[in-house]
Amino acid sequence: MQGLFTFLGTGTSMGVPTLGCDCPVCTSSDPHDRRLRPSVLVRWQQDARERVLVIDTGPDFREQALRTGIHRVDAVLYTHNHADHILGLDDLRPLSFTVAREGARIPLYASEDTAAVLTRVYDYTFSPSATYPNRARVDLLPLADRIHLHGVDVVRIPVLHGRQKIDGFRFGRVAYLTDVSDIPEASFALLEGLDCIVLSALRHKPHPSHATLDQAVAWARRIGARRTFFTHIAHELPHAETNRTLPEGMELAYDGLTFAVTLTV
Ligand SMILES: [Zn+2]
Ligand SMILES: [Zn+2]
Ligand SMILES: [Zn+2]
Repeated sequence: MQGLFTFLGTGTSMGVPTLGCDCPVCTSSDPHDRRLRPSVLVRWQQDARERVLVIDTGPDFREQALRTGIHRVDAVLYTHNHADHILGLDDLRPLSFTVAREGARIPLYASEDTAAVLTRVYDYTFSPSATYPNRARVDLLPLADRIHLHGVDVVRIPVLHGRQKIDGFRFGRVAYLTDVSDIPEASFALLEGLDCIVLSALRHKPHPSHATLDQAVAWARRIGARRTFFTHIAHELPHAETNRTLPEGMELAYDGLTFAVTLTV
């Protein structure tokens, strides 16, 4: 099955430009240097209707959905519980009302750790005793190792984010791993035979919970996908200049970048 993969946001947690910063990247006139918080969209056709999957709903989700023309969401997958990945959940409300008119609810797949934070932050959405009338019509569901979504198998890829265990996802021949500081050996085995891999690469200077660009390039070589995109990028990495230094087949992603993917193995 063929589909489309779109970067809704490729910035690190603070976004680029970073508030209060006047460095060359934050003041750049190149639109590729403007990065919203990290999220991606995967779309495919099933039985003549479009299916839309979002990974993470960060604080920029509303703007990203407007920009990309997202009119419905069939499911959301969460990588982990940090603000830059979850704080747009409430903006699913209008889209969930659309789905509710068809008698359905939007499934949100989250690990136990992520579900615990979501239920706390969005108590008025998830608490059975909440009285808020316009709550999102969403269901928080456990993240299994494999999830079957409208004809596509999603494989959970465990990775490390500092000391936190978080999740990446594989759909057929594309995988998305963000906020990664280490990839366990068992997860490399789940990343064989990819056409395309997306890896986070924060900057050059080491960070306790994010890979540097050099580290991400080394993983990309080992994984050996035909194309590698880097995301979750901080303001230390200018788009055009950094891309000139990368090996063939590897590039920094940018907001709005869309490419075709094979969603079956
Ligand atoms: Zn993040
Ligand atoms: Zn800056
Ligand atoms: Zn994070």
